[in-house]
Amino acid sequence: MESINSLISEFARLPGIGRKSASRLAYHLMLSDEAVSEKLAETILEARHSVKICSVCHNISDQDPCSICQDTRREKSVICVVAEPKDLLAIERTRQFHGLYHVLGGLISPMSGVGPDDIKISSLMSRLSDQTVSEVILALNFSVEGETTAMYISRMTNLLGVKTTRIAKGLPAGADLEYTDESTLANALDARKTL
Ligand SMILES: [Zn+2]
Repeated sequence: MESINSLISEFARLPGIGRKSASRLAYHLMLSDEAVSEKLAETILEARHSVKICSVCHNISDQDPCSICQDTRREKSVICVVAEPKDLLAIERTRQFHGLYHVLGGLISPMSGVGPDDIKISSLMSRLSDQTVSEVILALNFSVEGETTAMYISRMTNLLGVKTTRIAKGLPAGADLEYTDESTLANALDARKTL
């Protein structure tokens, strides 16, 4: 069955889906009503076509600037820096943060050849240049890459005289923000430390 095998291979390429889950998904779809597959394919394409990257904070959104950047009720003086859009979602779920965001699109990782110029650091610095921002909160994972990136950014923001804090280590070592429960993350945000 060439076509079902290639479907399994496509599913298995997605993050967090092993070969076993991939084949479970594929067989589930093949044995379900054809309309289920049609709806799924349609929804994926629709989402993919309508998604945009915010030119201000680099979050994924269906508009540019994104709804958070456009929201006049949000505090413009605080920017929370995250590595990926999924981390932004994790912070939003805490409902503790009312400022703006900046999505780096990765972390500095010399081991994998990712340098400061490969992520959105320079656009963060230009957002800080007009003095409206008084605090940058670094909400980065507590990994080697997270530490390296936090140190790099704080060195630059300190030069600009912008207060820079990092969410507290209430999180277990090596924890992913994405999988941290809301209250732990809210506490970490609350207990952030100046760098
Ligand atoms: Zn935005």
